[in-house]
Amino acid sequence: MVLWSPLPLIEGLAGLLPLLLALLSAFVCLDCASRITTHRWPYSLAWAIGAALAFSTVSLSLHVLWVDAIGTSFAVGYHPVLLITPWILGVMLSLPAWWLMFGTRATWQHQIAGGLLLGSTLLVTQSVALLAPGFLPGLQWNGGAMLTGTTVMMLAALLAGKLFQAQTALLSSRPVRLLASTTLMGLALWWASFHLTHQSNWPQQSGTAYAGMISLGALTLLASLGTLVLLLMTLLISLMEARMQSSLQLVQGTLEKQYLTDPLTQLPNRAYLEKALPEIARQTDEARRTQSVLFLDIDGFKPINESFGHRFGDLLLQAVAQRLVTQAGDGAQVIRWAADEFVVIGQPGDGRVEVAATARMLLDTLKQPLSIEGRDVPVAASIGIAIYPQDGAHSMLITHADAAARAAKSSGGDTYCFFEPHMLQDIREQMDLLRDLKVALDQYQLELYFQPKVHAPSGQITGAEALLRWNHPTRGLISPTVFIPIAERFGLIGDIGNWVIQEACRQIREWRDGGLRMRVAINLSVHQMRQPDLAERIASTLAVHDINPRLLTCEITESVAMEDTESTKQLFARLAAVGVHLSIDDFGTGYSSLSYLRQLPAEELKIDRSFVVDVEHSEDARAVVDAVIKLGIALDLKVVAEGVETDGQYQVLRRLGCDELQGFLFARPMTAKMLFLWATVDRQATHQEFRPSLFADTQMQPLDDTASGEEPDLQRLNKA
Ligand code: C2E
Ligand code: MG
Ligand code: MG
Repeated sequence: MVLWSPLPLIEGLAGLLPLLLALLSAFVCLDCASRITTHRWPYSLAWAIGAALAFSTVSLSLHVLWVDAIGTSFAVGYHPVLLITPWILGVMLSLPAWWLMFGTRATWQHQIAGGLLLGSTLLVTQSVALLAPGFLPGLQWNGGAMLTGTTVMMLAALLAGKLFQAQTALLSSRPVRLLASTTLMGLALWWASFHLTHQSNWPQQSGTAYAGMISLGALTLLASLGTLVLLLMTLLISLMEARMQSSLQLVQGTLEKQYLTDPLTQLPNRAYLEKALPEIARQTDEARRTQSVLFLDIDGFKPINESFGHRFGDLLLQAVAQRLVTQAGDGAQVIRWAADEFVVIGQPGDGRVEVAATARMLLDTLKQPLSIEGRDVPVAASIGIAIYPQDGAHSMLITHADAAARAAKSSGGDTYCFFEPHMLQDIREQMDLLRDLKVALDQYQLELYFQPKVHAPSGQITGAEALLRWNHPTRGLISPTVFIPIAERFGLIGDIGNWVIQEACRQIREWRDGGLRMRVAINLSVHQMRQPDLAERIASTLAVHDINPRLLTCEITESVAMEDTESTKQLFARLAAVGVHLSIDDFGTGYSSLSYLRQLPAEELKIDRSFVVDVEHSEDARAVVDAVIKLGIALDLKVVAEGVETDGQYQVLRRLGCDELQGFLFARPMTAKMLFLWATVDRQATHQEFRPSLFADTQMQPLDDTASGEEPDLQRLNKA
């Protein structure tokens, strides 16, 4: 058994050409085959076919070149059919070989089978090609040489495949892996093909049966030049494809980066985080540590956006993002989750104490004013914290941190909160209410209740505040403090607010038609204050119901009214121009600028209930009420105290000089029908009196507020 023959080297240049072809073809074959993994069906098949064609062609060519190199003493000719047969067999055998070795799901068994098949391909092509000239007398096959050649080829193919796929530090780049495996496989192909061709000592034979057919000379030319051209062309196609792939990858990389980046802040976005979280969780598990997630929601961002404009809002978000990135620290990561929501992936391994300190630090940092378009803007935020793995699976972390952020927000904002399971219950509850609230208007479940306002010195009823109630089909009567925040958050407040305006005006008209000239106050939400057509809407509703605008009061909470913005001032001016009264609700809870308050065309201040509760016993509360009353006198504003529950409070407030009072002591909020009956039928039954002027225009004098002068229509009202 000959393992190494010096013959190729002795033959000099003639042996170098097969070596060149063998190396080139090994490179082409491996390059094509490696694309089976990276391409999708059917392109992967095309590359497998390419590798198979190249391998089979080269096997046959090497055979021809070796025959020519070794040389014979007689003319050698080939039978075309017998020549084409090994080529076809070679393609058929090596195609599955490449597929097995480089397929996407290649196991080591597949690779062995692939190597075996490639070895067999070489054996079959070489052996069948040896039959093509029809040596006379017949060949004496050398089993040992056949086994050696095949085994070498098989092992080399197997190793080359493994080498190409191994991504060690040494073989990390594709060109290096390709070069190493090419050298191994090329040398094996060169040596094994020579070994198999030379196995049966054919030069000693006397001649070939097909000497007159395709001559060896022509074949050698074809084998050397043709194969070289074929290989070079395949290489060229492969190189072009590689270039195309790399530019495609570049585009894909850019697109992917864009997809995972928030264009405004240039921070990683929600898509990025959703992709990254499983990996973060895996690493956390592996290191057996914890991982905190902080969900940060800016407090009151919407009004900022709406008052100062979206450009200002954008600049603010950019500034917040930048500050968070600088402050969060090296091991942390900041993500823009949604509009004004950011997620900070905390330092790995931080415990509750460290995370709490980070949250506090972030809140404090944001409070240092950010300079935006020449304004210094301090930012407050609410932070919810969830810690992996104790606060749930990675897929639930953000939901849980978000729930905690909402809890922080509903406790007044500017604080942080750790996740607790009951917070989810609150969210579920809110979602249920939201679902029901969406149909509440259409199903006539909303109703206005009315709470009388009482003239302090005389104790007479002067008007009423409309307070919204939700008659929920299963939960009963729900307070506006429960559902108005939900309606505000999920954009339902616009429709509800419009309904309140309509319904209040309709009610005023109905009472008015029934002979009761009741002043009614409605509450306006922040969201309504941002409606550009609010004043026009109120004016047209008043006109439709033919109501004097002075009968309607709009209550706006102090915190909303005192937003010193051009749009607030304009809205107040427009509402005043419509002719409605303006009242500043919950006064004392926000911080009012006196000079600003003076500019607002308001007529009334409503002292917040929290001062009224303590007015009997607390000197401070009394001082506040006294100050508000003095302010009212100075600015010519009527002062109303709300939430009066005891006679003691009533007496103190009256003594201090409050103009009007409202509270359970006088009357709880009631239905429109009850109020009307009280005013008209049961007037004498209670100690509370209605101010005579409430009936004045229908009983005594011509109407100043309505065009119609019809008599009270009690029957119609009672039917309603
Ligand atoms: P508000 O405008 O300050 O209304 C006064 C609240 O205090 C009412 O609660 C009223 O029922 C309650 N109240 C009155 N007297 C007393 C008392 O003596 N003791 C106590 N403990 N409470 C008293 P309600 O009806 O639950 O309304 C709460 C808030 O919901 C209102 O505060 C107002 O800001 C808002 N709201 C009510 N209706 C509407 C509406 O139609 N639209 C908007 N946007 N907000 C509304
Ligand atoms: Mg109110
Ligand atoms: Mg109030």
